[in-house]
Amino acid sequence: MHQPLPLAPITEDTHDVLIDLIYAGSDNFTGQVIYEHALCFLHPQAEACLRRAIGAARGFGLKLKVFDAFRPQEAQEALWAVAPNPGYVADPAKGSNHTRGVAVDLTLVRGDGEVLDMGTPVDTMTPASHHFYAGHAAPVQVNRMLLLTIMLEAGFVHHPNEWWHYQLPDANQFPLIDSQAWLHCVARRHEAPGPRAA
Ligand SMILES: [Zn+2]
Repeated sequence: MHQPLPLAPITEDTHDVLIDLIYAGSDNFTGQVIYEHALCFLHPQAEACLRRAIGAARGFGLKLKVFDAFRPQEAQEALWAVAPNPGYVADPAKGSNHTRGVAVDLTLVRGDGEVLDMGTPVDTMTPASHHFYAGHAAPVQVNRMLLLTIMLEAGFVHHPNEWWHYQLPDANQFPLIDSQAWLHCVARRHEAPGPRAA
């Protein structure tokens, strides 16, 4: 009898979502490739909420674009090494809600592929990233409000300092997912679904 996997895969094919994992490339605040595997996972409860959010976004003619979801502990340590800034990056000694699989970083994209203007790029660690930052023009506030509404309706809660970050309520009640369990999920994703070459 197999143990249920602790993480559910999120893919563009199965979820009608765009995925651009910023830590799988070097175009992120560290300037380094942090992720060895460009795979997106969430805790099954968060995955169910994300599906609701995707459906809600569709009602506005929009798609969600995911920048980050489950984050291995080693990756959290790498981010903290570059930016030990607890207002924006969780101390790996305490654990990130991303490492619990219950946090997701994302934005909204129009049907024509244009990303909605949220006022700052993802991972901007300044007050301009805070929800309701007064310096942004009204259309930016509206775009952020739309994302906030979609995510709250889907069952997530927001982070006051980061317009892109949402997580399940009581996120720190969920256990940190260890890297062995995660690598097991990665291995399952890499198993070829079709016939294997001889
Ligand atoms: Zn986040």
